[in-house]
Amino acid sequence: MAWVRFRKKDMPGGLWTKCPSCEETIFSKELSENFQVCPKCSHHLTCTVDERVRYTLDEGSFEELYTELKPVDRLDFRDKTSYAEKLEKTAEKVKRLEAMTIGTGTLHGREVVLGVMNFQFLGGSMGVVVGEKVTLAVEIAMERRLPLVLVCASGGARMHEGALSLMQMAKTCAALGRFADAGGLYLAVLTNPTTGGVTASFATMADVIIGEPGALIGFAGPRVIQNTIKQELPEGFQRSEFLLARGQIDRIVSRPQLKDQLFLLMEFLAPTSDEARPVSELLAAASRSTNGHSPTEGAEAAEGAGADDGAKNRLPEESGDEETPKKKRPRKKAKKNGKA
Ligand SMILES: [Zn+2]
Repeated sequence: MAWVRFRKKDMPGGLWTKCPSCEETIFSKELSENFQVCPKCSHHLTCTVDERVRYTLDEGSFEELYTELKPVDRLDFRDKTSYAEKLEKTAEKVKRLEAMTIGTGTLHGREVVLGVMNFQFLGGSMGVVVGEKVTLAVEIAMERRLPLVLVCASGGARMHEGALSLMQMAKTCAALGRFADAGGLYLAVLTNPTTGGVTASFATMADVIIGEPGALIGFAGPRVIQNTIKQELPEGFQRSEFLLARGQIDRIVSRPQLKDQLFLLMEFLAPTSDEARPVSELLAAASRSTNGHSPTEGAEAAEGAGADDGAKNRLPEESGDEETPKKKRPRKKAKKNGKA
């Protein structure tokens, strides 16, 4: 094999990635092309903001907004170093000024507002700017009557901003409340991990809450809970599969199928035409404006993997019968395994 010729020190950093679940060593480029999903065990690794945008939207369609907004150290907070210094160093490392990226783009040709949280930026914590950017995303979606998709990943509120960060919970929820009253469609994708004040506010206010396979989703972390109640927690506690079985999230979608699933949900809950069309036709039309993998293949793969058994035939038929499809949530299904 070719790699034998290279000594370890000759290899550029990050060429290979070790799967944290099955410990398989995977070529990083291959992993990125495979949606950062391990080809051996289907473990979903963390992806960057740019990858997430690439996996979710049509190629080159993303227009990032409010890139210049950056947090301020209002409390003059200091632990080992000052918050201001920490912000500067993190921004340099992550190449973005905050843990939230928002913008508009197209998804299989449909215009959407997309927000992506970045766990690499101070644990995806929610400070004033994260709250402001979520609110701006909601307001743009409302003004332009577009569906809103937020991809969440967070350790919770940002302690460096004290009570100001907690206020973002109320602020984002109020904006989403107005959006819901106006009939707007909001889809949330909860990735590993989504916890704390983000789970307790905008992440779980969506019309449809999608979890990525195996994602940790909760308010307090499992260790804190275990230490508090002094009891062994059940297996899989706070993971997507555990929450789906208890009705706390609506579905689990693996990353390669996510784009198609978001598109179908949008077509079902906020159809662009009154005419009911079969899913195959919807996806075929979408494939003309899409990039990367074929959406039809994706839907078949999802069906084959049992990720979304009934949706393929059900969505358009129901959407044709509904007078106000926006307000109707899709029927919850029995526990299913989203792992491909
Ligand atoms: Zn693996």
